[in-house]
Amino acid sequence: MNGYNDKLNTKSQHSETIALLIDLVQRASVTPADEGCQKLIANRLQPLGFSIEHMRFGDVDNLWARLGTDEPVLVFAGHTDVVPVGNEADWTNPPFSATIEDGHLCGRGAADMKGSVAAMVTAMERFVASGQPMQGSLAILLTSDEEGPAVNGTKKVVEALHSRNEAIHYCVVGEPTSVNQLGDTIKNGRRGSLSAKLVVHGKQGHVAYPHLADNPVHKAFKFLDELVCIKWDEGDENFPATTLQISNIAAGTGAGNVIPGSLTVDFNLRFSPAITSKQIQEQVDQLIGKHGIAADIKWNESAAPFLTPTGSLTDAMRQAIGSVVNVESTLDTGGGTSDGRFIAKSCAQVIEFGPLNATIHQTNERISCDDIDSLSIIYEKLLEIILNTSES
Ligand SMILES: [Zn+2]
Repeated sequence: MNGYNDKLNTKSQHSETIALLIDLVQRASVTPADEGCQKLIANRLQPLGFSIEHMRFGDVDNLWARLGTDEPVLVFAGHTDVVPVGNEADWTNPPFSATIEDGHLCGRGAADMKGSVAAMVTAMERFVASGQPMQGSLAILLTSDEEGPAVNGTKKVVEALHSRNEAIHYCVVGEPTSVNQLGDTIKNGRRGSLSAKLVVHGKQGHVAYPHLADNPVHKAFKFLDELVCIKWDEGDENFPATTLQISNIAAGTGAGNVIPGSLTVDFNLRFSPAITSKQIQEQVDQLIGKHGIAADIKWNESAAPFLTPTGSLTDAMRQAIGSVVNVESTLDTGGGTSDGRFIAKSCAQVIEFGPLNATIHQTNERISCDDIDSLSIIYEKLLEIILNTSES
């Protein structure tokens, strides 16, 4: 225990990991800005022998740093960008001050996910400095476009690595996955995300003369009621059942005496591998046909589901967590999408593990300093288990 107390703010009083975290949080790297976070990390890893590649795509900075040429390749992945702070006046401390209070470091990105990034970097530094034999390669992939469109970030780096046949065998994404205590939850997959924008066409007219109009709102009622009641699948032992939520309905001209000409509905499905995006689309098309409504629908599949079955990486992570914080971890596939979806396309074992997610994206985002120090030791332990085979 490091015993972080109130307002300790000189760097000498902090662990290496917390000192790095303070430096990272003080950089206002709202997507897609990186504000030098990746350069700072590259400058620390290069002297250890890492080969450094800054991959900039569009307005997005990405870093690929690798030590070694052998296989297997273990990758830590994460992001240096953060979401906007919202109303700055609502924060107890300025969001980029990285103030430490009650043993917690407060600031935008402290939990999501600069805490994990700092822990990964110092874990790699200690692992390399220990001089233990390494069987395989160690790398870190960082992007400044995880919280935004996620077009020029991890996706492009993975494509670049794939095009030159550079394989990834194990990947740990540092998203904040812990729920009640550090170590309680590892994510070993994520559901897919499929969005739709549906326009139901009718004919505009006077409400007093409905026989001369065709009301798309009335037509949509029964269809939408049936749509939200569909049981898509049962899920399986790894995934909850697929769900659909309507996020918006819009119609109307603003006048109370006008039947609108069209109605627009936005909905999103979080789907398990028990069903495909194509099957969902076909089922919705059938329902539109059944209700005889004139409609256009635009689909956008932003994420396919992925699953890493229980295996060497999940076992190693559980072992590392157990040895440092003595917590039994649960494997989980809930929550939103993450960059794990891009890496899973070319890497069989992708998991996510990081600190508590209770305050992510919120005002007064904060993270326990002791947890981040423990997280760094857990990551280091994982490196020993996977890469130092003489240990295991
Ligand atoms: Zn994140």
